[in-house]
Amino acid sequence: MWLAVDIDGVLGDHVLHLIEYLKDKGVLDSGFTKDNIDRWDSLIGGKGFKEVFEAHLFDREFVLGIPVIEGAVEAIRRLRGVYKVLIVTARPRYAYGSTMEWLKRNGFEFDRFEIDVGDERVNLGVDILIDDNPYTILDFVRSGGLGIIFTQPWNKSLEYNPNDMVGRLVRFDKWGDIVDYLLNLRGF
Ligand SMILES: [Mg+2]
Repeated sequence: MWLAVDIDGVLGDHVLHLIEYLKDKGVLDSGFTKDNIDRWDSLIGGKGFKEVFEAHLFDREFVLGIPVIEGAVEAIRRLRGVYKVLIVTARPRYAYGSTMEWLKRNGFEFDRFEIDVGDERVNLGVDILIDDNPYTILDFVRSGGLGIIFTQPWNKSLEYNPNDMVGRLVRFDKWGDIVDYLLNLRGF
């Protein structure tokens, strides 16, 4: 059984990293926090978050500095005992080298890696998706998969009609709880 895991907002705390970086540069004031990014289309420094983040992905040192979300490495290691793990990201292809280096340096082990995969995650042929993007996860669940939404300020207001769901949607905010849930699902 295949499990796909998103990188930004799930394995790595990219929003926190970008905020701290922009504070150091004097672009953001010191009172700006992750909770200010409370919608998928939130602005940062007056610009769209995605545009600003992708501009910084050209900077290898910036990418390598993204902190790992607590428990993520150990979680993927344990889940890999029971699932095949696909690491997936919407990052542009130019970030392939630095992203792969970040995964390796932090000790992530996986069976497959796909970059530049945004909304097409329904076509990956996986059974389960762990993601922080409220729209991607809903599309995946509607396609019949089991979606696990990793709670972040920008997906807390996710709204959906349960009758619209073909698969299942569950929400967690800690990696330890996701591991317990997914191992239990396979009878462990
Ligand atoms: Mg993400």
